[in-house]
Amino acid sequence: MKNLYIDFDGVILDTITPVYNLAKKLNLDVKTQTKEIGLLYSKIDWETLIEESEELSDSIKSIKELRESKKFNISILTHINSLKEAKAKIEFINNLFEDLTIIPVPKSVSKTKMTQTKDAILVDDYSGNLREWEKEGGIGVKFSKNEIDEHFKTINKLNQIMELF
Ligand SMILES: [Mg+2]
Repeated sequence: MKNLYIDFDGVILDTITPVYNLAKKLNLDVKTQTKEIGLLYSKIDWETLIEESEELSDSIKSIKELRESKKFNISILTHINSLKEAKAKIEFINNLFEDLTIIPVPKSVSKTKMTQTKDAILVDDYSGNLREWEKEGGIGVKFSKNEIDEHFKTINKLNQIMELF
């Protein structure tokens, strides 16, 4: 079985749109005011945010299919800005799946530092994470709804992993 790590934000749930909408309301620029955005992330009520976030491309059903295929040892690998965020994500995952590993990673730490990377697959919507992952011997797969990434294999639905590996 191949180790498969799946990102949360922008892959399972679209938590990004509600945060950006909130930033807009507060007149924050997500590109330049990174410190303020970080602070916003740490203060957000994550339970509400998760409730308000849309599921991406039937991700939950896809993860169930991937588990049933028994081809992968699956974990959720997600950056977090606060312990409240970690707790809300852990609860969300635990309510949907039985016995699925979730690894919260402090935002300032590379995902590669929390797990074994060699020959493991990471599905992520952020190319920076994928570049770090491949540098450590892992296989990066880009999740993107509308664009094909020239550097990474790209999928727009999680169950497409089964066709790639
Ligand atoms: Mg992400």
